[in-house]
Amino acid sequence: MDCDGATRLDPPARGLVKIKEESMTQQVYFFGAGKADGDGSQKSLLGGKGAGLAEMTRLGVPVPAGFTITTDVCMEYLRGGNRYPAGLERAVDRALTQVEQVMGKRFGDPAAPLLVSVRSGGRASMPGMMDTVLNIGLNQDTVSGLAKLADDERFALDCYRRLIQMYGEVVLGVPKEAFDEPLEAIKRERGRRVDTELTASDWSNVVERFLDATQRHSGKRFPQDPRQQLWGAIGAVFNSWYTPRAITYRRLNRLPDDWGTAVNVVAMVFGNLGSTSATGVVFTRDPGSGERKLFGDFLVNAQGEDVVAGIRNTQPIEQLAEVLPAAYRELEQVCHKLEQHYRDVQDIEFTVENEKLWVLQTRAAKRGALAAIRLAVDMVDEKLIDHKTAVLRVNPHQLGQLLHPILDPKAEIQELARGLGVSAGAASGEVVFTADAAVAARAAGRKVILVRHETSPDDIHGMDASQAFLTARGGSTSHAAIVARAMGKCCVAGCEVLEIDERAGVFRAGTHTVRAGEVITLDGSSGRVLLGAVPTLDSEIARVVRGELPAEKAPVYQLYHRLLGWADQARRLKVRANGDTPQDMRMAVAFGAEGVGLCRTEHMFFQEGRIERFRAMILADSQEERRRAADQIEPFQREDFAAIFRVMGARPVTIRTLDPPLHEFLPHGDEEIAELARSSGVSEARIRARSELLREANPMLGHRGCRLGITYPEITAMQARAIFRAACEVAAEGIEVQPEVMIPLVTHVNELKLQAELVRNIAEEVFRETGRQVPYTVGTMIETPRAALTAKEIASAAEFFSFGTNDLTQTTFGLSRDDGGGFLPHYIEQKIYPWDPFATIDPIGVGRLVELAVAEGRESNPKLKIGICGEHGGDPDSVVFCHRAGLDYVSCSPYRVPVARLAAAHGALSGG
Ligand code: ADP
Ligand code: MG
Ligand code: MG
Repeated sequence: MDCDGATRLDPPARGLVKIKEESMTQQVYFFGAGKADGDGSQKSLLGGKGAGLAEMTRLGVPVPAGFTITTDVCMEYLRGGNRYPAGLERAVDRALTQVEQVMGKRFGDPAAPLLVSVRSGGRASMPGMMDTVLNIGLNQDTVSGLAKLADDERFALDCYRRLIQMYGEVVLGVPKEAFDEPLEAIKRERGRRVDTELTASDWSNVVERFLDATQRHSGKRFPQDPRQQLWGAIGAVFNSWYTPRAITYRRLNRLPDDWGTAVNVVAMVFGNLGSTSATGVVFTRDPGSGERKLFGDFLVNAQGEDVVAGIRNTQPIEQLAEVLPAAYRELEQVCHKLEQHYRDVQDIEFTVENEKLWVLQTRAAKRGALAAIRLAVDMVDEKLIDHKTAVLRVNPHQLGQLLHPILDPKAEIQELARGLGVSAGAASGEVVFTADAAVAARAAGRKVILVRHETSPDDIHGMDASQAFLTARGGSTSHAAIVARAMGKCCVAGCEVLEIDERAGVFRAGTHTVRAGEVITLDGSSGRVLLGAVPTLDSEIARVVRGELPAEKAPVYQLYHRLLGWADQARRLKVRANGDTPQDMRMAVAFGAEGVGLCRTEHMFFQEGRIERFRAMILADSQEERRRAADQIEPFQREDFAAIFRVMGARPVTIRTLDPPLHEFLPHGDEEIAELARSSGVSEARIRARSELLREANPMLGHRGCRLGITYPEITAMQARAIFRAACEVAAEGIEVQPEVMIPLVTHVNELKLQAELVRNIAEEVFRETGRQVPYTVGTMIETPRAALTAKEIASAAEFFSFGTNDLTQTTFGLSRDDGGGFLPHYIEQKIYPWDPFATIDPIGVGRLVELAVAEGRESNPKLKIGICGEHGGDPDSVVFCHRAGLDYVSCSPYRVPVARLAAAHGALSGG
């Protein structure tokens, strides 16, 4: 937590003196020889790097002396038209003198020159966004001094050419190639392969050419005055705050532009002094697996940036124990000390100069999903952190990664195309182009991937039979994406480069043609489409949850189980699942779902033997005929609901009455129409006429939702009858049930009143008929702006609200998610919308409607239960929003339930 505000009121002793002397705020913070003006809590003032250097110095970790110019100075400099604020020069001089005293060298002294690095470092790490210049203070004179001091001319010249290059690039804007070319030329001329083979005379030649190149490209001489070098570099670091790449990085990561960067001036230590010197990076634990052992690499005889630059192959950190044993032992101790102190895994930069260890940076390590969860649990066991901290240390997105299969990272891959990764996981299979082909292939025991322009409810059986889906169109809330997430399958959507020729049974991706039956692999995280069967690693957690692996044999599952136990203790929001089948529900319960938030009854109609009857109902001429057709469907629905109640027991189950426009259920192609005519005895002409009648210009805003139930009350009646009969039947088996009947797309309280009355009448009728009562509620979805705006009226007729945020987002934005493909990606790329509002809730537009409906709904009905059942219910940021908005539960697809549980805990623990 940053508390620089406090430090400004209560500055350390040195600062107090200064306050009287010059300005109110300290501009420069010294550190060295065990003492530091600042400390680790001052990240916003000193930047992450500066705060870390001060804190390490205080802890007695060997850090070269130096000082930090604050982020406030940076903003003052940038706002004041690139002029240094008054007093800064004196403060820097004073701090530089202190550094000289500690290091026993003088800046610009040819006999014993002090060299420094000038390093950027903002509040948050912005890797590679801003610049550092090493070896400042070298010139024609001091380079000989350094050579004598180190008794190594080659080394001194190597440092000097590095300075010219870095200074040239960072301060004078010389392009990198201007230096690469002469260096390569000399290597060629003299037959050297790697930099370390270059001799002193080679480097001397390089220095000449570098000085030349600098002058040629910038029109300026490389400055020989060390002070001019220092101030040039300080200014460049400040200015790098506003380079386009830094601005873009901040925008992408939602970091403010007015933080500024600090500048750290640090005495140089040298890893390039020969075979007893080295430089490297070490993690206090493995950031991939979380294993408790040092992880990292180093290079002998090299300077800082060589390790990342990949100039030579690095050595794994264990080998340092053999190469430089004393330094390795000290490094181990430092790692332990820093990890204990920060109570987190650290990522540390170090340099060994003539067997002496120096530490140049420490920060919390970025970690992979597995490491995140292992570290959190291990550190609780080690009593370093408490349960809450552990829960907050695991990002819910990372947990999501652990629930799906992933591509074996060691596998070789050949990329065919790239689309949007809309449902995580990885899967391989033979390409099929139709749902029926998928079903046939599965029956023959083969694994397939369904490839289509886009999928529709007609494809459900084929989707069920496939490992994964690939579509050329659609985005993160396309039909394919929603079904994939619900089924826990992987999906790549919107892969626009695909040219699919279903008839010919091929698709083309660039120059590649893939035929039906050929194997491809999808990576639903990155959106990559790969040729051939790339091996995948199944999620251990999912295998335990599916009952395929005993928990005792699953160490990752055990970590997951403990962490989520702590999350469950911390959260207030309940988590339910969306699902339509008993299989969905069983998975959901195993993943910790506490109820069903949305059971969509329409998917149940798309099964063999049912769709025909349903179509007969739609095609009916009269109410009487429609009722008869409905009566035929009722037993199927009842059976489905009973199976779901048996799985869910006492947990609440929200069942939504019919929602989509009827037209979606009618056959489309000629063949299908002919077949329906045969099976139903209704003429083809009549089917076509009826279809025509049901066609709408704008089905999303048409005759759907409760509007269907109001014009065809016999459909709602049939569904209610099925629900209550099923509930009574299961209750008779001694199982507690809790049905909640949900009316979709209500925009006026009168609609809800009509439908609720109908449902309640049927309930009474069934209770009389069965001689049994079950508790139940009737509520509504809130999925249009008018519903939210009139929540007070609607709540008077509802026992619960469930926000259908997919539709609410569509209707609030006036944007159909099926038609957003043409511009939505552009909008998101250009940051016109900060993110995809169908993936993460728009908190100030859609979210405002949610907040209003919660407040006004509860005002008129204090007992109102409120949840969300849109896709957003599985998105961590949206879940945190729901917590803050005071909802009672979120509901999401079964595989997202653990993610939502963790996100709900984050909401509760992160304040607000
Ligand atoms: P970045 O933020 O890109 O890592 P740094 O400021 O940390 O930039 O510096 C780049 C490299 O130079 C790192 O490897 C760092 O350890 C090294 N380095 C920085 N200052 C010094 C110094 N005073 N002595 C030796 N190496 C240094
Ligand atoms: Mg660094
Ligand atoms: Mg809806």
